[in-house]
Amino acid sequence: MKKIAVVGAGLVGSLQAILLAQKGYQVSVFERRPDLRKAALVGGKSINLALSDRGWKALEIAGIAEDIRKIAIPMYNRCMHALDGTLTYQPYGVNNEAIYSVSRGGLNQKLMNLADNYPNIEYFFDRKCLDVNLKTNTLSFQNEKTNQVEQFESDKIFATDGAYSAVRMRMQKSMTFDYSQKYLDHGYKELVIPANEDGSHKLDKNCLHIWPRGEFMMIALANLDGSFTCTLFFPMEGETSFATLETREQVAAFFDKTFPDAVEMMPTLLDDYFANPTSSLIMVRCEPWNYKDNIVLLGDAAHAIVPFYGQGMNCGFEDCTVFNEMYDESKGDWTGLLSRFSDQRVPDANAILDLALDNYVEMRDKTADPEFLLQKKIEGKFSRLHPDKWTPLYSQVTFSNTRYSDALRNGRKQDALMQQILKIENIHERWDEPFVMEKMLELIS
Ligand SMILES: Cc1cc2nc3c(=O)[nH]c(=O)nc-3n(C[C@H](O)[C@H](O)[C@H](O)COP(=O)(O)OP(=O)(O)OC[C@H]3O[C@@H](n4cnc5c(N)ncnc54)[C@H](O)[C@@H]3O)c2cc1C
Repeated sequence: MKKIAVVGAGLVGSLQAILLAQKGYQVSVFERRPDLRKAALVGGKSINLALSDRGWKALEIAGIAEDIRKIAIPMYNRCMHALDGTLTYQPYGVNNEAIYSVSRGGLNQKLMNLADNYPNIEYFFDRKCLDVNLKTNTLSFQNEKTNQVEQFESDKIFATDGAYSAVRMRMQKSMTFDYSQKYLDHGYKELVIPANEDGSHKLDKNCLHIWPRGEFMMIALANLDGSFTCTLFFPMEGETSFATLETREQVAAFFDKTFPDAVEMMPTLLDDYFANPTSSLIMVRCEPWNYKDNIVLLGDAAHAIVPFYGQGMNCGFEDCTVFNEMYDESKGDWTGLLSRFSDQRVPDANAILDLALDNYVEMRDKTADPEFLLQKKIEGKFSRLHPDKWTPLYSQVTFSNTRYSDALRNGRKQDALMQQILKIENIHERWDEPFVMEKMLELIS
């Protein structure tokens, strides 16, 4: 049996380990941290993520989607919180589709537990990957408990060690490899809206809540225990920024003024604000993702993207789907497989990074803009009347398996067309009249 090493037991590494074990490989998974399942007992809250169709597809292929559904909460609408407390609901899909709130830590633990069902998967925790010898396919790890350096030789290596991948670092130094990274000038901080005393949620749990405030925003996703994890996406520097909110008084005044309806539900706001880290957001593009037929990058190790389309993990899970499909097509022959996989996936990863950057502006700014809301209404109506002619960009990305690169192209075309429709005189009053749909048909053809 061929030996495969997976570096990084995060979401993508744990899922890929299961898929490889199902193909009959002997899989060794190396993780820098201690076993999350034991560490989790000690406490600590994790961020939650929106899981959507691309992620579900990979989980279905692995045969574990039903296990994950048990820890996922459907969100059918965006719920926008205006400054005066007015709520506006906007469905995510045109056919009542949902995205699903899952705890990153909870999902990671579940994937590890499911991986434990396979005798041919073995986890090695507290093993920090230091380097890889590309010639011999040998990984070196620092054993974080003994401080010894250990070596591990394998036939193939899947590097799923995240945005700061050690395996990718070696590829950067030792082969023809294009790489770029950029930090967003906004970072994030997690906060919490606790459950009511009876354990119920304080807000509608089936919505993704957004407080769009122009240059920045806060969002909240429901947890199974009745709480919400809030994430404040905010400039790192500048007049209104993490750098300038220094004292409890400043933070309290800012939240009272900016998120008044949320503050009422956040009794531990000030303690959380100062206890929780301010984290940065990195974007990584690189190419190729493989070294010969031996090593391949997957997940954030290959493509760290900003979280504004809720697609980082979904894209990583789609890496697993695409690899799986290409492996099956090649009937298990690895010759050229990793290189073909990289060629196929790089344009899609680059496209979702561009889409996610666009969506940040949309979420924090445009979701409060009447023009944008009108555009969504017109698109939604046209799409319901002519589903074969128009799938909204959000649905292409979130509720389909259309290649991200195709979705990006389609979206640009659709936007150009909608700009023409929005120029129609008195469109805000007349948008529901039949001639608008006719005009769209004419423009499409
Ligand atoms: C605020 C925020 C919100 C997000 N929201 C969403 C969302 O709504 N939907 C979505 O799809 N995605 C979202 N994402 C992105 C998502 O979290 C990531 O894309 C996903 O976690 C990537 O999974 P991964 O397994 O590739 O990497 P990671 O989850 O980073 O896992 C990497 C693993 O490798 C280990 N590791 C690292 N270095 C080493 C080493 N040297 N040796 C051994 N092990 C190592 C790490 O400890 C970790 O366990 C969000 C991200 C952020 C920051």
